Amino acid sequence: MAKKTYWLETLGCPKNQVDSDKLEGVLIEDGMSFATSPEKADLVLVNTCAFIEDSRTESLEVIAELGERKKSNARLVVTGCMAERYGDELKDSAEHIGIDKVAGFGVPVTPVSIKSPIRFSAPTQSKAPSFDLLNLPRPQPKAPWAYLKVAEGCDKKCGYCAIPSFRGQQRSRAMGDILKECEAITASGQVKEIILVAQDLASYMKDVAHKKDTLHIKDRATREKNELNSRNSKAKSPQPIIELLEEVTKLTEWVRLLYLYPSDLTPQLIETICKTKVPYFDLSLQHASRELLKKMRRFGGTEIFLNKISAIRELAPEAVFRSNFIVGYPGETEKDHEELIGFIEEARLDWAAFFLYSEEEGTYSACLPDKVPAKLAAERRAELQSTQLEITEDLRAQLVGTQTKVLVEAEGEARSFREAPEIDGIIHVPESLRAGKFYEVKITGVSGCDLHAEPI
Ligand code: SF4
Repeated sequence: MAKKTYWLETLGCPKNQVDSDKLEGVLIEDGMSFATSPEKADLVLVNTCAFIEDSRTESLEVIAELGERKKSNARLVVTGCMAERYGDELKDSAEHIGIDKVAGFGVPVTPVSIKSPIRFSAPTQSKAPSFDLLNLPRPQPKAPWAYLKVAEGCDKKCGYCAIPSFRGQQRSRAMGDILKECEAITASGQVKEIILVAQDLASYMKDVAHKKDTLHIKDRATREKNELNSRNSKAKSPQPIIELLEEVTKLTEWVRLLYLYPSDLTPQLIETICKTKVPYFDLSLQHASRELLKKMRRFGGTEIFLNKISAIRELAPEAVFRSNFIVGYPGETEKDHEELIGFIEEARLDWAAFFLYSEEEGTYSACLPDKVPAKLAAERRAELQSTQLEITEDLRAQLVGTQTKVLVEAEGEARSFREAPEIDGIIHVPESLRAGKFYEVKITGVSGCDLHAEPI
C-alpha cells in the first residue's frame, strides 16, 4: 500500500519551526512521507501563528489557500498557536473554511486522525498545555543550521504579550535531553550552526530552580530562608544558559542565541557569548523610554541599554546586535518616541525590526488608556525604520574590504556570524562554493543590507 503523504506549512517564529520539525518527526515515524505539493498530500497541516493580528490574518489566508488547493479527500488540519488560542472560533467556522480538525498543543495530528472519524479536540482551557513538542523526534535538518528549542512557555508578564496565556509557564528541558538532540542533529557533520531558542532564553532553568526551592516547603519562614539561601548561592553559581552554551559549543562550530531579555544578560553571560565564534546579541528591548517600558511591565531604559551595549563592544568590538521594538503601545507619547529615535541613533544596532502594537485579548495593555491612533503609530514606525535602515546600510558598507568566515547555505548564498538565518541580510558568494561548507572570504561589495564576497 502506498504511504500516506503530508504537506506541512509553518508560519511564525523559529520556535514554531522547531515544533514543525518535531511534528514532521512524528508523522515520519508513523509511516507517512513528505508530499511534493499540497495538491498531492493526504494530510495538509498548517502550523499557525497567533502572536499578533497580522500573524492571525496570514494564518487564516494560508489555511484558506491550502483548503482550496488540497485534493478533495485530503484532510486539512490546523495546529499551533492559533489552534490553541482561537480553537473554538476556528471550530465554529471549520466547515465554512474547510478545516477537518483543529489540533491545539498536544492533540494528535497523526494518520490516526485521517483514518478515524473527525473529532474536534476539546477546548483547551489549561494555562499550561499538558503536552508539548519539546522532546519529540525530529528529522535531520535540510539546511546546514538548525533551531534547538530549550524551553517552552514564559514566566514574564509583559503587558502586551498573550504568549504565557496559551503557551503556559516556562518549562525548561533537561540539559541532557537538549544535548542528546543536539548530538543527533550534528552527528552527521552536515549541521554547522545551532541556534538556541526559547520564549525567554536567558531564563533557561529558572523554572526548575524555583520549583526546587518551593517544593514541599509549607512553612513560610523556612521557605523564605531557603529562598534567600538559594538567591545567595545563585549569585555565585553561573546561569544554566551559560553551561548550556558551553556544552553546545563543544558539539558544533557556531552557536547562536536568539531572544535575550536584557535583565538576564549578565556580565558572565556576555563574556561567554563573546568567547564563542558568534558574538551576536539578539536583545529583546521593545522600547527605550523607561516610562513606557514600565507601562509595558518590562525592564530597562535608554541608559541601561546603552551601557550594556557599550560594555559588550568593549569586550568584543566586532559584536553584532539585533533587537525588536514595539511602536504605538498605549500611552506612547511624542517624547517617548523621540527618546526611541535617539536611542536608535546612538546604539547603532546592526539589525532592528519595528512592530506596530497589536491589542491582544486578555492582556494587561488591552485595558490601558491613551491608545495611539493607527496613523500616528504607522508614521512613527516609518521614521524608525528609515533611521535604522540608514544605520544598517552604513554598517554593512563599512565591511567592504574586510575578511570573514562564511557558512554557505545554498547555491550563491552564505552568512557570517553577523547574519542570523531567515531574519538578517545575506552574503552573495560565487555559486561554485559548496553548500554546507565554511569558507574564508573577502567582502567585495554591498547592495543595501546584503553583501557580496569572493573566497580568499
Ligand atoms: S518575555 Fe515578555 S514578550 Fe517575551 S514571551 Fe515572555 S511575556 Fe511575552
